[in-house]
Amino acid sequence: MLVHIGRIIHKKMLGKYAVPAFNTSDLEMTQGIVRAAEKQKAPVIIQTSVGALEYAGIEELIGIIKVEARQASVPIALHQDHCHDFVLIKKLINLGYSSIMVDASHLPYKENLKLTKQVVSYAHKQGVWVQAELGRILGNEDWQNVKSGDDLMTDPIQAAEFVADTRIDTLAIAVGSVHGIPVDPRIKKILSTLKEHVDIERVRQIRLKVKIPLVMHGASGVPDNQIRAAIKYGVAVFNIDTDLRVAFNKALRTNIKKNPQIYDPRKLFRPATDALQAMAERKLKLMKTSGHAKRFKNN
Ligand SMILES: [Zn+2]
Repeated sequence: MLVHIGRIIHKKMLGKYAVPAFNTSDLEMTQGIVRAAEKQKAPVIIQTSVGALEYAGIEELIGIIKVEARQASVPIALHQDHCHDFVLIKKLINLGYSSIMVDASHLPYKENLKLTKQVVSYAHKQGVWVQAELGRILGNEDWQNVKSGDDLMTDPIQAAEFVADTRIDTLAIAVGSVHGIPVDPRIKKILSTLKEHVDIERVRQIRLKVKIPLVMHGASGVPDNQIRAAIKYGVAVFNIDTDLRVAFNKALRTNIKKNPQIYDPRKLFRPATDALQAMAERKLKLMKTSGHAKRFKNN
């Protein structure tokens, strides 16, 4: 079932379990994610990036997700990842997203605040949630001004002010996780200065000041024990993209290599979709999301 994100992300879950936000860009990934959620009886967030919408087509991709979600036996919420295009944000809200991330973190603080407030004012009138980011999440994004680990990180006091000022619903925190697989030597160097992959103490400090659900982006490479610790301190959503892609990609390559005679894309994709599903299930177990869809049964 397609549900509003507010039905699966709420205060009662904080500290106990989290819900992964899985990225999709096509039918196969969407089916792998939905099957994993059904098998684990877990709520999930399916999210799209601007790149994925460009790849598949906006209406096409949203159509696939909505049909899959509506037919699913578990609650699924639709969320848009990083977006700073207000026109696109409005369009996605009209198309049924219940949550949108406005990412103006590349702008100076005041401008970030201004755009975020505008989006919140628009979205809240339609009952749609807004996520925003403070600090900089390393990786395949705009990070040119980042020179050290500390420059990246969300400041707990500023975060509290930002949340109060903007009235956003969820906060993406920068605590050391990375988008994608770090290949750039400059990113690798910055990462090597961090004591742990994720600064769990900073998560704790943010939690003390910020009461809305926290979101960790780039959570694919974060070790399991740090995911568990972050959940304890109120991270409610973990964005997972890379691990799904890698699982899909590995299985696809193996299948092609093993079966060079296969030319039917459906037969080529099947083991890859299965591998993606297995990875998604692993994440649902890790985040203790499994089983939490049960109370939605009779709706
Ligand atoms: Zn992100």
